Amino acid sequence: MNQLSDPRPVDAHSVMHITKRPDIIMMEGNGSWLVDQNGKRYLDFLQGWAVNCLGHCNPGIVSALNKQAKKLINPSPAFYNEPMIRLSDLLTNHSCFDKVFFANSGAEANEGAIKLARKWGQLHKDGAYEIITFDHSFHGRTLATMSASGKPGWDTLFAPQVPGFPKADLNDIESVKRCITDKTVAVMLEPVQGEGGVIPADDAFMKELRQLTKERNLLLIVDEVQAGFGRTGKLFAYQHFGIEPDIMTLGKGIGGGVPLAALLCTDAVACFVPGDQGGTYNGNALMTAVGISVIEQLLAPGFLASVIQKGEFLQDELLKLCSEFGLQGERGKGLLRALMLGREIGPSLVELAREHEPQGLLINSPRPDLLRFMPALNVTEDEILTMCATLRVLLKKLS
Ligand SMILES: *Cc1c(COP(=O)(O)O)cnc(C)c1O
Repeated sequence: MNQLSDPRPVDAHSVMHITKRPDIIMMEGNGSWLVDQNGKRYLDFLQGWAVNCLGHCNPGIVSALNKQAKKLINPSPAFYNEPMIRLSDLLTNHSCFDKVFFANSGAEANEGAIKLARKWGQLHKDGAYEIITFDHSFHGRTLATMSASGKPGWDTLFAPQVPGFPKADLNDIESVKRCITDKTVAVMLEPVQGEGGVIPADDAFMKELRQLTKERNLLLIVDEVQAGFGRTGKLFAYQHFGIEPDIMTLGKGIGGGVPLAALLCTDAVACFVPGDQGGTYNGNALMTAVGISVIEQLLAPGFLASVIQKGEFLQDELLKLCSEFGLQGERGKGLLRALMLGREIGPSLVELAREHEPQGLLINSPRPDLLRFMPALNVTEDEILTMCATLRVLLKKLS
């Protein structure tokens, strides 16, 4: 199986260098496993950054793609298609929202949310356009969503920024109040900061934020691109807090691996008129057919309960590692979890895990003192144990 004795370097000079990639080529995927060009297998606790919520090459998704591809791929956004309507119905029937616009990426969905809030501000708040966002938040890589993000260094990268995104501190309601001016139209946040290091918003903070935004006539936008679609054990992360936001964005998990994202809002906020919003691929039949397969699998009896149960199982196993190796702790919600290492060994662990023999392990370190886990939502307990066993070996090596 393992042919690493002949590791030919990968010639990929024509691929634009936008990230440091290891010298392997991923060839096949199945559930929680990936296989490279040498036949080496990797246990995948990244899943394309929480994108493959049902694992690699999920049979339901493959079948939806095959069936829909033979029937209709994209009649153009100027026409309705059946999967577009069905998926919109499924999303609105299972959330507090009334209207859905489909996009192709989380960043694009968030751009739509920003535009929608600004439009609403023009109509109802005397042109108010400022959207309060949070330090260490991540909303995407377009110019506006980079400006909305609170990622260190992004304020000067590609300057000048898009104006209108003052930053508050997560879980600090006073810091939000201090940002409010007569130009404020909305507050936008991730219910669990993902890229920032898996930091969940507090229950009390979310409730206070909803109350504050209502009192001050501000829209509440939740970016559920990472935390939505079952990741935290509820279909949508806002549902943990007993609140109803005005706008929500979805990405990653909604497509189970294919490019699909969505912007949802209540009827009261749905103020786009024809010409305001669009996009060549929006609501195409092929991707929305996949979205239907994903949401139907998530809504199957017992599925979301199993995510909560496996999240607790993963938490228990991570806590064992904490006490064995004197690590700082763990945090997260459902199957979006982080292990706080207490020292900056995250990047070394990521590399050692990938290079581990005979089977590699794929994890990620959004901050050097932390590891993040976002396995498939249908990961098995055995796979969680295998992941922790590998980590145990590596932590021993580094201690
Ligand atoms: C990944 C992510 C985005 C951006 O999504 P893309 O599909 O990469 O554009 C936006 N918000 C959050 C919270 C994310 O995790």
